[in-house]
Amino acid sequence: MSLLVVGTVAFDAIETPFGKTDKIIGGAATYIGLSASQFQHNINLVSVVGDDFPTSAIEMLNQHRVNTEGLQIKKDEKTFFWSGRYHNDMNTRDTMDTQLNVLETFDPIVPATYQNCECLMLGNLMPSIQQKVLNQLQNRPKLIVLDTMNFWMDHYMEDLLQALKNVDVLTINDEEARQLSGEYSLVKAARKILSFGPKYLIIKKGEHGALLFNDKEVFFAPALPLEDVFDPTGAGDTFAGGFVGHLCSTKDYSFENMKRAVIIGSAMASFCVEKFGTERMNGLGKEEVNQRIAEFVDLVQFDIELV
Ligand code: AMP
Repeated sequence: MSLLVVGTVAFDAIETPFGKTDKIIGGAATYIGLSASQFQHNINLVSVVGDDFPTSAIEMLNQHRVNTEGLQIKKDEKTFFWSGRYHNDMNTRDTMDTQLNVLETFDPIVPATYQNCECLMLGNLMPSIQQKVLNQLQNRPKLIVLDTMNFWMDHYMEDLLQALKNVDVLTINDEEARQLSGEYSLVKAARKILSFGPKYLIIKKGEHGALLFNDKEVFFAPALPLEDVFDPTGAGDTFAGGFVGHLCSTKDYSFENMKRAVIIGSAMASFCVEKFGTERMNGLGKEEVNQRIAEFVDLVQFDIELV
């Protein structure tokens, strides 16, 4: 049983207080695939790049068991480009440039071999494209997770609200939750967003962890306190990849297992931020991953005797 991942495969230019990069490999689906591959060994990608995208990067994805049959390569067109700048507070960033390029005319095609997937991860992308992928599936996956961002809320809110009616889990950050709901309190925001369609909502709060909501319960996962965060780019997608990768491999979609998945997502994100771009995620070992998850268990475990 497979995990179907949809999202951007991109060139990123990033500036943080620790340095600057020019056109490195990025994209939501890239980070999701690399992260999910630690848990799920059958990952199918649907995305698009231009013929300026290096073959070596596609091979790198294949080496991480990400099948790229559904990755369209557009001749004489340019890959999606995003550029962002972080300041000392790495929780907020300025988008300097977003060039949609190949995304502008992207018509996703789900290959026949990708049908009957167990889980679907609709990574950050134009909401109408996320919906088009959903429409092509002959059977509804057991779990549909959607990630999005303020850019799509600013320009395509109606399409996003439409897509949200069909998903099980929505992952967004705190600012986006406020924008989507019009509520400042995250508890009120969660209640409102859950009324739009998703059964579960994850609100990511960067170095302050993540909250998981359903209509009755709430769970909090911290972020690992790190001495230095070099580059937060892709942390949200890496989180989502770990989350959905764990659920898809265990096939247990209960709230209890989602709590574990949130911890696993947080552990994966803590690796991503340790180096620029995908550098840390590329070739990450399973032992390191297990050790990091154990650190999270220690971080939140305590005994208490109520008097
Ligand atoms: P994250 O830091 O997890 O929000 O994700 C960063 C990644 O998202 C980068 O690698 C970008 O290429 C990609 N990205 C940036 N803007 C967009 C957008 N509007 N739609 C889809 N992906 C984007």
